[in-house]
Amino acid sequence: MAQYVCLECGWIYDEAVGDAERNIPAGTKWESLPDDFKCADCEVKKSDAHMWQRID
Ligand SMILES: [Zn+2]
Repeated sequence: MAQYVCLECGWIYDEAVGDAERNIPAGTKWESLPDDFKCADCEVKKSDAHMWQRID
């Protein structure tokens, strides 16, 4: 399980936790998130790959 931090605002997506607010179950891998997944706090999209840093 890894975490991905939004380099724009610092929000973190944690694969182990998922995102209950958006019905993403715990354990959902980053690769499995929909392409239109966005940061919870700003407009950075998953497809903006250079805006996300993986943390192992
Ligand atoms: Zn953000």
